[in-house]
Amino acid sequence: MKLAVIGYPIRHSKSPYMHNIWLEALNIEGQYEAIEVSPEQLEHQVKVLKEEEYSGFNVTIPHKESIIQYLDEVDHSAEVLGAVNTVVIKNGKCTGYNTDGQGFLQSLSAVRTEVDIKQAQILLLGAGGAAKGIAGALASFGVRKISIANRTPSKAEALVKAQKVPGEGLDLQTAQERLNEFDIVINTTSSGMYPNVDAAPVDSSFMKKGALAADIIYNPLRTQFLKQAESAEADTLNGIGMFVWQGALAFEKWTLQQPDTADMINKMTALMKQE
Ligand code: NAP
Repeated sequence: MKLAVIGYPIRHSKSPYMHNIWLEALNIEGQYEAIEVSPEQLEHQVKVLKEEEYSGFNVTIPHKESIIQYLDEVDHSAEVLGAVNTVVIKNGKCTGYNTDGQGFLQSLSAVRTEVDIKQAQILLLGAGGAAKGIAGALASFGVRKISIANRTPSKAEALVKAQKVPGEGLDLQTAQERLNEFDIVINTTSSGMYPNVDAAPVDSSFMKKGALAADIIYNPLRTQFLKQAESAEADTLNGIGMFVWQGALAFEKWTLQQPDTADMINKMTALMKQE
């Protein structure tokens, strides 16, 4: 079985590490590789992957949206989001999916019950590609309301309108002032990601005690956003779980087998500690 991740740049991707361990653990003969593909090469590369009989591939920055025009079919939820992170190739046909939002939801279920999630006051920071997937997954899961705050507030408002649940679009300053209203605050912005490790989208030390701060960044493991939340005695969740689960959901689509996510979360955490 031939699998890959395509992106630009791609050399820092941890996906080959994860998927190759799973292939070996489940005795599936095959390999998952990272292929650097520039925007100009994208259309040609999709043809090559089909011709060379790959079973599927992951898609990362900057191709998650532009890949759609080169696929034969797109799953409904990925179509609504306008972004694909997983492609299955079967009988020469490429079908696109998005496992990011569901991956986040799976990682959230490790630290909060279904009832907790459904009843929580939720604040999403950011309105980019990852936020779209997470907002969609939370709405489908049945949350009551989603507040979304973004540096560019018009994008937060547009994302709220696109959801099937009530919500509100905020700017970051208003979100900061109202931070202690929320039970779950999710950072989906890239603020705080390596190398800008001292940055954070809001000062989460104003969060409510016992609330949950979830960051989807996993490099570093403990972002400034999570450190500040700890000082408010909030619970924290880093981005490793989402990364592993979005990968596991893709792996299941290609191989019809379930990989060991708990073991991989430990392995990935150890790997990122060495970085
Ligand atoms: P994106 O589409 O480029 O969106 C970036 C978001 O961050 C936008 O809302 C942007 O606001 C905001 N932002 C950027 N710099 C900021 C700053 N200095 N202060 C405040 N807000 C800022 O990116 P994405 O694909 O959604 O990815 C976002 C982050 O999630 C990245 O760090 C990525 O590594 C991570 N991620 C993790 C996983 C995982 O599996 N754990 C999966 C996907 C993504 P504007 O709209 O105002 O520009």
